[in-house]
Amino acid sequence: MGGCDKSKVFFYVLKDYVYICSGNKHFSPLVFHFSSIMKRISLLVIFFLPLLVMAKGREDTRLVVITIDGLRWQEVFTGADEELINDTKQVRDTAELRRKFWRDTPEQRREVLMPFVWNTIAKQGVLVGNRNKNSVMQVANKTNISYPGYSEMMTGMVDEAIKDNDPVNNMHRNVLEVANQDQRYAGSVVMYGSWKSTRFAIHNEAAGIPASVSYEAPVAKKQTSRLKLVERMMEGMPHYWRSEHFDAFTYAYALETLMNDHPKVMWISFGDTDEWAHSRNYNLYLDATNYTDAFIRDLYEACESDRFYRGKTTYIITCDHGRGFGKDWSDHGSRTKGSEATWFMAFGKGVQPLGETVNNGPFYTKQFAATIAKVLGIDFTPESGEQLQSLPLGK
Ligand SMILES: [Zn+2]
Repeated sequence: MGGCDKSKVFFYVLKDYVYICSGNKHFSPLVFHFSSIMKRISLLVIFFLPLLVMAKGREDTRLVVITIDGLRWQEVFTGADEELINDTKQVRDTAELRRKFWRDTPEQRREVLMPFVWNTIAKQGVLVGNRNKNSVMQVANKTNISYPGYSEMMTGMVDEAIKDNDPVNNMHRNVLEVANQDQRYAGSVVMYGSWKSTRFAIHNEAAGIPASVSYEAPVAKKQTSRLKLVERMMEGMPHYWRSEHFDAFTYAYALETLMNDHPKVMWISFGDTDEWAHSRNYNLYLDATNYTDAFIRDLYEACESDRFYRGKTTYIITCDHGRGFGKDWSDHGSRTKGSEATWFMAFGKGVQPLGETVNNGPFYTKQFAATIAKVLGIDFTPESGEQLQSLPLGK
């Protein structure tokens, strides 16, 4: 290339041959036969394509985890309970509640109670836990209460020493913490919860996970005027429960933070269902189930209309424990029969449309951590050393 201006190098194709032109005046000699170059390129593509596809599997993704405290599988899969909806001790106005949530068949009742679950999630995703159809899921811990349930789902193991709901830090490694240590997700994992103890279940400060629960300020990077308004409203409402704020605030904090900060992983923990059940208020328990379904729809629609999340997000939903049945419906715990029963649903990226699954299980809530790890493409081994299978995602 002696004497040529190297800044003006270009290729020239003429009659199947590639010439290289360097400089203003000089043509270099013939360089390559064009078709042989194409052959080489094709071979390179064939050789490297599987590696590219494998690398794609290690890509980052987006995950929205939603938990609904103490929502029974009975309401999720069969809608309003006939015995309870007609019980004037549990329901203030049975006629009004029947108008809202009573229909002739379980399929109609569950759809009117949770329309987003049954019109969208059931068509696009997978549901587990309808015991009437022999799909069984339950907690592995023996307490059937909340903190041990959240600990189990996030650490992937049961610690028999964890048996109450105190807001104390969980000393076991959890799957969100491991995600936050992965360079793809570092600094991009956030948690919002209604009930105080939820953030302690993931020991969020040591794990480096920003979290806000129970009347705390939002942990968003961008503190918008909308977030300030939500916080002000929460302060100005009766603090009806001592260690738990209403889910509407959890929803608003979460939605605003998703849209402004674009975290890759968020855990949103709702709790109204459990509180109204403990109050033996079947009206408000059903209402909470119904508006939580609408919160999930809104969160999904907002994410799918945002380029950061659209088509790249998996949504997984579960509960921390079940409840009793009949007169024991309001309660849960080791002495409440049936309160070990849980359920699971997933939809979005990477989830096959299996719909409501039947004749499977028993699955355990502790498999939830493995499910999160699978969705995020991270390696996670619980401290127990017991490597668990993901809950069904269809592949
Ligand atoms: Zn409870």
